[in-house]
Amino acid sequence: MSTQEKKTENSKKNEEIKVELTDELLSRIAINASPLREDDVELVKKQLGRKPRGLIAIGARCACGKPAVTITSPRLPDGSPFPTFFYLCLPELIVEVSRLEVKNIMKEMTKEIAADENLREAHQKAHDSYIQRRNLLGEVPEIANISAGGMPTHVKCLHSLVGYSLAAGKGVCPIGDKALEMMNWDTSVCHCED
Ligand SMILES: [Zn+2]
Repeated sequence: MSTQEKKTENSKKNEEIKVELTDELLSRIAINASPLREDDVELVKKQLGRKPRGLIAIGARCACGKPAVTITSPRLPDGSPFPTFFYLCLPELIVEVSRLEVKNIMKEMTKEIAADENLREAHQKAHDSYIQRRNLLGEVPEIANISAGGMPTHVKCLHSLVGYSLAAGKGVCPIGDKALEMMNWDTSVCHCED
């Protein structure tokens, strides 16, 4: 690598991602994504108990309109890379997914992936698609091959995979879809307690 190339790469690394989020781009990122509304940052802050960093859009909403899935910039405002593109923020949903995680079904799902060729391929495809979607905002070299939730070979965090499923719609992330089925999660009703 020449000095010039190195310089370019380094300056790239320090650059905050600034892409205009048109509706067209958002729909390519995730079919259920929507732009930030005026009160979204405040709502997510309340949901998570901290100010969300690098929040750029909402991946999916509760039927009432409250944010259910966050979309975070792959490069945070302080310059650090952030691989987890989709994540849950709706408290009622987080609790449901945590209930599943307590049952330790991630281990079983990982075994299933290892044993079932079709599922393995689908999980790998979900991983590739995750990175492609994130790259629409600009490639971040430090996390070039890193997705989330344990993909492409494991299931480690259902909160990530369920968030991905809700944002991208059914048929993209089979493990997230499966978890939603196990929870009987109905996206057409509001689950909020307040
Ligand atoms: Zn709601």
